[in-house]
Amino acid sequence: MAAPRRGKPPRHFADLDAEARAAAVVELGERPFRAKQLATHYFGHLTDTPEEMTDLPAASRDALVGALFPPLLREVRRLEADKGATVKTLWHLHDGVKVESVLMRYPGRATLCVSSQAGCGMACPFCATGQLGLTRNLSTAEIVEQVRRSARALVDGEVAGGPGRLSNVVFMGMGEPLANYRTVVEAVRRFVAPAPEGFGLSARNVTVSTVGLVPAIDKLAKEGIPVTLALSLHAPDDALRGELVPINTRWTVDEALDAARRYFEATGRRVSIEYALIKDMNDHAWRADLLGEKLNARGRGWVHVNPIPLNPTPGSIWTASERHVEDEFVARLRSHGIPTTVRDTRGSDIDGACGQLAAEEGP
Ligand code: SAH
Repeated sequence: MAAPRRGKPPRHFADLDAEARAAAVVELGERPFRAKQLATHYFGHLTDTPEEMTDLPAASRDALVGALFPPLLREVRRLEADKGATVKTLWHLHDGVKVESVLMRYPGRATLCVSSQAGCGMACPFCATGQLGLTRNLSTAEIVEQVRRSARALVDGEVAGGPGRLSNVVFMGMGEPLANYRTVVEAVRRFVAPAPEGFGLSARNVTVSTVGLVPAIDKLAKEGIPVTLALSLHAPDDALRGELVPINTRWTVDEALDAARRYFEATGRRVSIEYALIKDMNDHAWRADLLGEKLNARGRGWVHVNPIPLNPTPGSIWTASERHVEDEFVARLRSHGIPTTVRDTRGSDIDGACGQLAAEEGP
């Protein structure tokens, strides 16, 4: 069989809102209430298998599933770390494009890190995905399917720790979510819609992480879905941030922070600032002070900082800050009254940590 052309995936049930789902079912000659039954199976029971849809007549099941649930993700590889509590999955999409997602299980919660694009166009030099360039945007259903498949694996007890529920989704996998705006917002709507119209996740447990696309942040603030916003800052000064996050030449540190503050005002959600600590690059005490000052200049209680020890990426000359430097950086921020928590580096040994996703198949 010839390799399919890279491009738009087939239409899937999860691409559609409730109204469009009913219309699609009617178009297939079925009664509209079948759409709700399908939604209950898909979002509630996390299944797209006709045999599990026993409340539908067998003939309808096959026709509906055949038309509305084209297979979008093929699981190619699963890698485990942290005694099975971290699971990275490599997916092949319908056109052979590859993406990864990472499931992290903690006591009392389970977080899936999803990809919103294959590759990324933002070109941050310390990020493995950034080195790939952008292959294509994912569709809403390709994003929703990462969640559905991982949530089902959890329910089925396939993840160490026994059967569980997915509680959090973070857009910190491959891609810049706000560069695939409509698609990502639609996916978020499916995550937070109450069952059976969606997975019923709490919006606060969904995090959209961005390099700081200012107009898109302002738009997101108006969607009426109070997801948590994370801003990848990595430097408090434009000279350095311009190197680390090239889009900074379009929207500066101050513009990105102002947008983050507006997001807090519009949604009441405390914003996260992500700061990868890179040895001798951005980890100076004066930069911690400058960051603290810039955050406090925009008010109190609206933000917290997540320093992330840099995860190594192939070919990069950079390494993580030394421990005492990291400690000093954190202490300085806290001395400015900024809540600061160092992000753990779950999955770094399987290239599954922040910035390491490159969809390499490996040996
Ligand atoms: N494009 C989005 C989301 C994906 S990356 C964004 O940039 O926010 C998720 C987080 O991992 C971002 O904060 C990103 O800057 C960070 N990151 C990228 N490469 C990293 C690395 N090598 N080590 C640690 N964090 C990294």
